[in-house]
Amino acid sequence: PTTHFGYKTVATDEKASKVAEVFHSVAAKYDVMNDLMSLGVHRIWKKMTIESAAVRSGQRVLDLAGGTGDLAAAFSRKVGETGQVVLSDINDSMLKVGRSKLADMGILGNVEYVQANAESLPFPDNYFDCITIAFGLRNVTDKQKALESMARVLKPGGRLLVLEFSKPVHKSLSTLYDVYSFTLLPLMGKLIVNDSESYKYLAESIRMHPDQETLKGMMETAGLDNCNYTNMTGGIVALHKGFKF
Ligand code: SAM
Repeated sequence: PTTHFGYKTVATDEKASKVAEVFHSVAAKYDVMNDLMSLGVHRIWKKMTIESAAVRSGQRVLDLAGGTGDLAAAFSRKVGETGQVVLSDINDSMLKVGRSKLADMGILGNVEYVQANAESLPFPDNYFDCITIAFGLRNVTDKQKALESMARVLKPGGRLLVLEFSKPVHKSLSTLYDVYSFTLLPLMGKLIVNDSESYKYLAESIRMHPDQETLKGMMETAGLDNCNYTNMTGGIVALHKGFKF
């Protein structure tokens, strides 16, 4: 099947291997591309997520689909020596880049690296005070299953934050954004890392991701309470937050 933009869509059972291929391919250049493609704005989205997570000294934090570790690095400073941060990702290439980046930053003691699928987390029940998943959920094949797995490993009183591309609130912004993501993004991918396919996948995965209200409903179905979201940059990105009581 093809999307209305003419790109081939990926069948669900092929999705995981497509995602693996994409992130093995982009891992080395991932951080540079993030800055270029978002004109640096991803740093602001992440900063707002880190502030909203309100992680304190001594807490246990899971940065899921954490890739190159931008959030994990910030959390490591906040939890201090008595806390614990787990940087987890399904992809070992991304995890390796993350591990060496954090080591270069002098972050050693309180961060662990765990290769895991968000759909079946290898952690005990009721373990983490806070879980974040930034620009990760849309890559997961069974998103509902992943949200349920996250709810299971959250402590009662803990919170889940999902930072993800979402649906722009105004039609004009939406049109502009479509043009950007379906033409400029793959072109930048081609010119900078000679990989337009990965960036076509990126645009497609953004387009197919559930909108704000749908994702909120999925979090509620997973058993989380007080779920709400904040739109950023006109809804291009949304930060969803939910609690386990
Ligand atoms: N969180 C980082 C950030 O915001 O820069 C990385 C985001 S990157 C766009 C998406 C990450 O999700 C990749 O590192 C990819 O390997 C990971 N991922 C994809 N499917 C996953 C799954 N089922 N479970 C865990 N991680 C997954």
